[in-house]
Amino acid sequence: MGWLPTTLQWCRLCAADEDTGEARSVTVTRDGLMVVWHMADCLHYRADRVLAGRED
Ligand SMILES: [Zn+2]
Repeated sequence: MGWLPTTLQWCRLCAADEDTGEARSVTVTRDGLMVVWHMADCLHYRADRVLAGRED
């Protein structure tokens, strides 16, 4: 397990951040991990889950 640099990004839809966010999605990019915070009902977050095949 190597250490990967983590980039934190804000969702442009729900604008959640570390303090207000209720869920987060993690994407592996060429440069490391990208973490995006979302509100639980954010459409962007739900779309991420669908794309990842984790919708339930
Ligand atoms: Zn969001």
